[in-house]
Amino acid sequence: MSFENLGLAPALLRALVEQGYSEPTPVQMQAIPVALAGHDLLAGAQTGTGKTAAFALPLLDHLYVSKRGQAQPKTPRALVLTPTRELAAQVHDSIRGYGKHVGARATTIFGGVGMQPQVDALRRGVEIVVATPGRLMDHMERRSVNLSNIEILILDEADRMLDMGFLPAIKRIVNRVPKERQTLLFSATFEDQIKSLAMEFMRNPQQVQVNARNTIAE
Ligand code: AMP
Repeated sequence: MSFENLGLAPALLRALVEQGYSEPTPVQMQAIPVALAGHDLLAGAQTGTGKTAAFALPLLDHLYVSKRGQAQPKTPRALVLTPTRELAAQVHDSIRGYGKHVGARATTIFGGVGMQPQVDALRRGVEIVVATPGRLMDHMERRSVNLSNIEILILDEADRMLDMGFLPAIKRIVNRVPKERQTLLFSATFEDQIKSLAMEFMRNPQQVQVNARNTIAE
């Protein structure tokens, strides 16, 4: 199985070759075709399985190839929620790497740093926002972020976000994004709380599951 068979655009395949990826990992093999087809997705995958590319590649394909320029310019079309700023920064780097030939414009929103540079970046206009829930709420309260054109919502490491007490913030954020959207939820574990989150926020999600043995060797 190769990345070509998964249905990704040539500009993305070129970036993957440059990253030195020769074949998709199990979670990528399972998740990418489902996400490209527009389904909601509930994916059980730990860090190290290649989960970031499993959501970032379909996201980039949707925004910059299949649905290029569909929404109003300057407002975000995709939102990735992560539990920590370190993970937000990593996801942002990955999106930049995979998206270098499609002109992807992304920014990060997280706490512990000044608000103003984030406000400025949002005002200049980005299509992809990678955010931690707490700081994103601050921007929502200041009306410095507009979530009304979000087409794809991704919850990365959803179990960790719940462990960190972000459930109320996540609910408020999800209430502000359009109902008509695609939602991808990635989690290492599937406790009842994650399942009820999925029931509440997703429409007929397809499920994929990989185990820790599928972690990429360092
Ligand atoms: P993640 O689980 O998303 O944190 O990814 C773990 C590591 O695997 C990252 O350093 C990725 O760059 C790398 N990676 C992801 N997909 C592949 C792949 N198909 N081939 C080789 N390395 C990959």
